[in-house]
Formats: sequence, structure tokens, C-alpha cells
Amino acid sequence: MQELKNLMRDFGIVGAGGAGFPSYAKLADGADLLVINGSECEPLLATDYILLRDELDLVLQGVSEIIRKTSISKAYMAVKAHNAERLGWKDGDRLCDGVFVRALPDIYPIGDEISLIYEATGRLIKPGKLPITEGIIVYNVETMYNLGRALRYKEPVTTKWLTIGGDVKKPTVIKVPIGAKLTDIFERLGIEVKEGYTVLDGGPSMGKVINPRTYAVNKTTKGILILPDNSQAVLSKLTNEEIATKRAETACCQCTRCTDMCPRHLLGYPLEPHKMVRTAKGAVEVMPDMVISATLCCGCGVCESLACNQGISPRAVIDNYKKLLSKNKLRFDKNGEYSVMAERDYRMIPYKKWMSALGVSQFDRDTDFGGEIKDFSRVEMTLSRHIGAPSIPAVKDGDIVSAGDLIASAAEGLSLPQHAAISGRVTLGKDKIIIDKVR
Ligand code: SF4
Ligand code: SF4
Repeated sequence: MQELKNLMRDFGIVGAGGAGFPSYAKLADGADLLVINGSECEPLLATDYILLRDELDLVLQGVSEIIRKTSISKAYMAVKAHNAERLGWKDGDRLCDGVFVRALPDIYPIGDEISLIYEATGRLIKPGKLPITEGIIVYNVETMYNLGRALRYKEPVTTKWLTIGGDVKKPTVIKVPIGAKLTDIFERLGIEVKEGYTVLDGGPSMGKVINPRTYAVNKTTKGILILPDNSQAVLSKLTNEEIATKRAETACCQCTRCTDMCPRHLLGYPLEPHKMVRTAKGAVEVMPDMVISATLCCGCGVCESLACNQGISPRAVIDNYKKLLSKNKLRFDKNGEYSVMAERDYRMIPYKKWMSALGVSQFDRDTDFGGEIKDFSRVEMTLSRHIGAPSIPAVKDGDIVSAGDLIASAAEGLSLPQHAAISGRVTLGKDKIIIDKVR
């Protein structure tokens, strides 16, 4: 297994969506089951579906290597039922030795790791614990594709697949060098961001507002969406903390709908957003146990965009607690017996209802692969877009590098190296390495 870990680290493989956890660090003794997250949880994103359709062979090469080199004997390729059908798969189909299809219900947030594991395997991860405690490792589809490329072509991670969608003429999945500027991508695709629109890095539920003039693609970019400012998806992100707290203090009627619909609560987690909102009202004493449960929230936004009829964002209240807890390195660590609530079965949120709640249903259109865009004159490669210590530059100003060359080494401890995404001349920037093509 150590050999495989070294390969994953040396080729710069990181979780291809989400927080950017270095993939090698997830491999651990004691796992017996691998779940490949191809659930495409966020509306309007189609990156994983296109990769499974067009690059399945490489994805499966990565998965098979993990089965060969670790204690894992079985893997589930977890995809939503409607995508399984489009791929010509049925639940239980065998894709190759030890790898089987798991067709998931079309519900939100099925890609949340805890929900995904429960739906795909029936195992419930205890609150505050990692999947490995139940013998499970989860990787994203693109992570396995990158491992497949490293094994087959000895190529490090220098490209990224991402969806460009939302209110655009033709939503598309493209492949670009890591570090490509969004302004250059939009120019190639003929996209203009009009007044009254906001650009998100990620999906409409959990994506972050970005400045399209300065943003460069990184190893965790999964999709870029252009959405109207008046959609709930954008409004929820533009409401500032102070307003969110004021609303929570004044308008909450304690109906408990946010708790009743919370996907983590329904899985039996001791997370009760309505009580967190009550603390913002100052109506109860802030109890340490209640506050620490904020770390169990996956940030799905169901409480703010669907459950609450008063325009309150329990998620924003919880986010404040999360920041405080993270600063003090505190997390939920209480053992106990937890079980999934019986009501979960009829409180799950259909995917289409969720899109409608976010005001993005009209942008849900067929998305195809638009090809690889290669010819960029500049890339800006960040040194810290993974969890752990930033990479350490291994080049200096003015150096000439070729695509694939090592340009930054992994630091001590949890970290990853970086490799040149294009050939050209290096300039060292603050927390990034810029490469300009030499004409
Ligand atoms: S759903 Fe809204 S009004 Fe009801 S308890 Fe939650 S925050 Fe308060
Ligand atoms: S964002 Fe809200 S609904 Fe989602 S897990 Fe957190 S508290 Fe529950």
C-alpha cells in the first residue's frame, strides 16, 4: 500500500472536488470497501457523468489498483439512478473485477459523504467519525481518473475537467490546464458575464461566489456557474452575516421545520438547527454540547433554501459557530448509539424540488463534452489549494519549464507537489506560480 500512497502523492493527486484532501492520506489499513462518488450531488454539474461516459477505462484502472494494493476487496460506483440509466447501467451491474454499480435515489444531498455511504452501503458513520471507522474509503470519480492516468501514462495532475453552466447558451464540460484563467476560458467559449449575474465556483447549493476576472482553475474546481442575482442560489450567498443573524434573532417562530428536514438530523445525528437559531435569539443559554454539534452540519443549505419560510438561514448561524470551533480546533467527539430516523424515508428531498427551491430548474439542460482547450498563454498555479501545508516552489523566477515538470515540492507532513500545466517561463507570485508561454 505504501507504494501506491507514494505514487498518489508524487503525482499530486488530490480530492477532485470539495475541500481538496490529499488522496494518498485517505488510504489506510482496515478498509474493506471503496465507494466512488459519482453522485453529482449539485444541480447543473455534469463533470462526473461525462468522465464516466468518456473515460471509464481510466477511472476503473485507478479503482482496480486500489483493490489490488490494499485490504479493500470491493468497490461501488455510486451514481444517481437517472445517470446510471443514461450510462446503460443497472444497480448491481459488474463493471470489472470487484467493481459494482450502485444506483442511488435522485435526492439531495446524496453526495454528502455520510448520506452517500448510507445509501450506497447501508453503513452509518457515527457523528464526528471518519468513513474509515466503518471500513470505508470514498474517492471522487476524477480522483480515480487521475490515478488511472498516473498509472498508465506516468502523468501528474496538470489538467482539470469542469462544467461551465447556468445561464449560458450551451452548458458544457471542458478539460483545461490547471491554472487557466477564467477570463481566457470565457473568451474561448464566447461567454460574457452580464450585469445582474454572479459567478460561482461549484454548484448552486454549496458553491462560492468568485470574481471571474481574477479566478484561475485549481485542482478542486468542479464547475463554474453563471446565475442570476435574483435566484435563491445566489441570494443565499450574498446575504451578509450580520443580516442573517438579525433575521434569526427577530423572525424565528421555532416551528422546527429546519430540524425536521435537516438531512444529517434525519440520519440520526444530534444536530438541531432550530435550537442553534434559538441561541442567536438569546432565548436559551448557549450549551457547549449544542454548539459543538455545529461541526456535524454538512452545509447543504436545505434549512435555509427549502425548510424555512421566514427567510432565516440556520446555516449562516451554524457557519458562525463552525468558524469559532475550527479556530479553537474543537470538533464533535461524543460516543453513543445513533440510528437513522424512520421519518427519513418520506422526508428526503427529490432532486427536482431542490432545483426549484434554488431557482435554477430552467438551467438544467443536456450538457455534453466540449473538448479540451489547450492553448493558454498563461496559467496561475496555486500552492495551497489542498488541505495541509502549501507546496514549496522548486523553481525560481525566469526558469523555463516543460508541461509536467515538478515546479513545487510537497512540504513536510500533509502536503502535495505541483507540476507545470503548460510549458513556459516561470514567475513566482504570492502563494502561486505563474507560467507564461514563450513565443
Ligand atoms: S424553519 Fe425558520 S422559523 Fe422555523 S425554526 Fe427553523 S429558522 Fe425558525
Ligand atoms: S445546512 Fe442546515 S439542513 Fe444542511 S446539514 Fe446543516 S443544519 Fe442541516
